[in-house]
Amino acid sequence: MQIDILTLFPEMFDGPLSLSILRRAQEKELVKIRLHNIRDYSTSKHKNVDDYPFGGKAGMVMMIEPIANCIESLQSKTSYDEVIYMSPDGELLTQGLANQLSLMHNLLIICGHYKGIDERIREHFITMEISIGDYVLSGGELAAAALTDATVRLIPGVLNDETSALSDSFQDNLLSPPVYTRPAEFRGWKVPDILLSGNDKEIAKWRYEKSLERTSQRRPGLLGK
Ligand code: SAH
Repeated sequence: MQIDILTLFPEMFDGPLSLSILRRAQEKELVKIRLHNIRDYSTSKHKNVDDYPFGGKAGMVMMIEPIANCIESLQSKTSYDEVIYMSPDGELLTQGLANQLSLMHNLLIICGHYKGIDERIREHFITMEISIGDYVLSGGELAAAALTDATVRLIPGVLNDETSALSDSFQDNLLSPPVYTRPAEFRGWKVPDILLSGNDKEIAKWRYEKSLERTSQRRPGLLGK
């Protein structure tokens, strides 16, 4: 898979992309993630990327030209399955959506900033708009990093058996059961006996029951989906 991310602040991805699972996925060449600085595609003398909104009002808007130049330059070399804009008014990111995206070959993700991007980019280039929740971030970078992480860890081969995504929350519309590790007792607080029993069948049953219990307590809306 190849993911191209368009941003005004490529440095914001330094941490998320260079550690842990995203790092390993790139090292194993299961994903190639490229960052593109939108400012490099500005043709103005001072490399402007934002301007005042037509009709007045506070805040700046990301200009159409640098973003259009950047998208078209990338599209001349790669055919994208989706051109995604991170936006609070987009479709809510879910495990199901991450699953779908993990099956794609080439994704282009645009991070907005300030008041957002010129609407004409959305009308003429964007094929999908994704929100990571009903709150407003300063920019699309953290949202794009979350989307990239949720998607890439589902590419076959990225996770090993021990960290398999299949047992994670939401994968089957159930929340994860509680997990424990050594020591079996800490300050008198004990791990449930069943987990120490060695009885795989009973452990699986316990985990399933705990998943159901947790889901009906915390996210009943997931049940029966
Ligand atoms: N004025 C816009 C918000 C702009 S926030 C509005 O009210 O809808 C600046 C940028 O941050 C956006 O262009 C978008 O790319 C990103 N962003 C903010 N909140 C987000 C969210 N919940 N999910 C995804 N991207 C978000």
